[in-house]
Amino acid sequence: MTAVSLTVLGCGSSSGTPVVGCDCAVCLSPLPENTRSRCSAYIRIGGSGWVIDTGTDFRYQALREQLPRVDGVLYTHPHADHLNGIDDLRAFCYRQQGAIAVYGSEFTLNNIETRFDYAFWPPTHYWNRPVLTAHRLPESRNGSPVLDLGGVPLWHYQAPHGRWHSSIYRIGNIAWITDVNHLDDAIVAALAGLDYLFLDCLTEAEYPSHLSVAQAFDYARRIGARQTYFIHMTHFLEYTDLNRRSPPACAAAYDGLRVCSEWQAA
Ligand SMILES: [Zn+2]
Ligand SMILES: [Zn+2]
Ligand SMILES: [Zn+2]
Repeated sequence: MTAVSLTVLGCGSSSGTPVVGCDCAVCLSPLPENTRSRCSAYIRIGGSGWVIDTGTDFRYQALREQLPRVDGVLYTHPHADHLNGIDDLRAFCYRQQGAIAVYGSEFTLNNIETRFDYAFWPPTHYWNRPVLTAHRLPESRNGSPVLDLGGVPLWHYQAPHGRWHSSIYRIGNIAWITDVNHLDDAIVAALAGLDYLFLDCLTEAEYPSHLSVAQAFDYARRIGARQTYFIHMTHFLEYTDLNRRSPPACAAAYDGLRVCSEWQAA
């Protein structure tokens, strides 16, 4: 048995909550669960750690959760709220005195290498830049994992996110699905048997590149994880209210939430 823990670094949408300049009830709420930084997670397996996305709040999240190390980054897609904290990987490169592996689809890594080319140069004596190596992941459509994370399999799927695609990651029995507007039947089937599902749930109204609340509820029921947590929520969703009307075994995530699942190799 291998323990896999996932900490929600952030469960907010691209603006974060509170939204700058907004005086709505959620943005002014004193409830800590209504403060949401940009969407990201930290996975711990043994003494190793992997980050899903380095958004604009990554440095603050790494300090808040006292992240000890980063062995790799799993990128979902290259929107700014998931990527633009990439420079703050530099602190971990310096501390670990080595390059950090970054993973994602061909499209995502092409985009990152174009926009942050200097992050893929060799290190200098000063470690004054992040030092990364790019690894393109195929999809797990044939059922095969694409990586081994400390003895736990990683499966990778892609789903539409408006005109783009986002990568979906299943690590053992935990899955992270953000920034998608549709999941096909094969992906729903591949997500059977989850302990924990983290699922895009942007806002009440339908949206071209995300799941609405009703769509997220529907996918959560169909996937049937032991527990589903909603992520990437805007300031239109109030924590207590969303929990009250969520289906059984579903709830709103909050920054700092941690879950743990045991992986039993076959
Ligand atoms: Zn996003
Ligand atoms: Zn607001
Ligand atoms: Zn996005």
